[in-house]
Amino acid sequence: MKSKYFDHAATTPVRSEVMEEMLPFFTDIYGNASSVHLPGQKAAGVVDDARQKIADLIGADRSEEIIFTSGGTEADNLAIKGTAMALKDKGKHIITSSIEHHAVLHTCQFLEKHLGFDVTYLEVDKEGFVDLEMLRKSIREDTILISIMMANNEIGTIEPVEEIAEIAEEHDILFHTDAVQAVGQIPIDVVKQNIDMLSLSAHKFNGPKGVGALYVKKGIKLVPQSSGGAQERKRRAGTENVPGIVGMGKAAELAKKEMMEKADKLSSMRDDLISRIFSDIDDVLLNGPEGKDRLPGNINITFKFIEGESILLNLNMMDIAASTGSACASGSLDPSHVILALGRSHELAHGSIRFSLGYGNDQEDIEYLMEVLPGIINRLREMSPLYAKKK
Ligand code: PLP
Repeated sequence: MKSKYFDHAATTPVRSEVMEEMLPFFTDIYGNASSVHLPGQKAAGVVDDARQKIADLIGADRSEEIIFTSGGTEADNLAIKGTAMALKDKGKHIITSSIEHHAVLHTCQFLEKHLGFDVTYLEVDKEGFVDLEMLRKSIREDTILISIMMANNEIGTIEPVEEIAEIAEEHDILFHTDAVQAVGQIPIDVVKQNIDMLSLSAHKFNGPKGVGALYVKKGIKLVPQSSGGAQERKRRAGTENVPGIVGMGKAAELAKKEMMEKADKLSSMRDDLISRIFSDIDDVLLNGPEGKDRLPGNINITFKFIEGESILLNLNMMDIAASTGSACASGSLDPSHVILALGRSHELAHGSIRFSLGYGNDQEDIEYLMEVLPGIINRLREMSPLYAKKK
């Protein structure tokens, strides 16, 4: 039996069409995209084709607005540190939310610690939404950047980015969104949504790991975060990862074509799985919103009285891969900052599990999960002192 993978928010498998497209660029067409000779120009050509495909996926007007990076983390760093350094004479205040990925949170903390910036971390409501009134009230004379994620990686909440962008524009403040979890899952149009900067990462939409991009609207100046060659119009030095970029371009093309069908399929599987967990298992809570404001493939459940880590280990023994939250934070025993931000206690945060669905999951996977999960929860609860107290 094939193992059941419910961790697509951590990473996704590379589609075979994507890998096929990448392969020649390791062996036959291996030029450096900065070289003037023919192999180099071939590489530069495919890099620009991929740039166009990514621009098309997110509705960017110009392919030059796409800067290739090594992934979502680097794109977030470039957007936030690059803006902070470019606008430090205008102001040193940044607004973000308390449920961002660590790629954003730790970047903001770096700016506070090392460069004297002041950062407001907006609280969210019990479903993970940023409060627009609170955002308005946090804006100051010296605010230079608002960075709020498009969709949360742990609980799937889709933030009201259009409204946030409007508020940012009213106050002449730049707006960056970390859309790493949203790209390829929900429609994005940076022009209509009035987004100034947007981060994405190929491995979250069936492309390769270690490659991503930052969209930067024409006219916005960033201070580059790596010094070196003149690649990416002097905004990101370093030889381009040509095979990776080709793979990301192909994954973007497939995502654009198939996204709506995939979103319909995954959201109906998601709702089915949530309702089956609620009907087969007692004492469970859904983290994040229901319905259309939730990423199609995201399910995050607190199983009261037990530890998420023990559930994961037991699922793993049955060949089921899930997660307690952010892959980058797993291995740490701290409860998720996202679940705590919803107002849940430490105990409830410790009992939360994320199942994230993606390309390749089918009904058979759901059936197997639901065959196994209630038994695991019952067994762990029988051993739980907290559960004994409840009974
Ligand atoms: N931002 C979000 C919301 C993410 O979920 C992730 C990865 O989990 C990242 C940023 C980091 O992306 P990458 O793994 O490409 O560095």
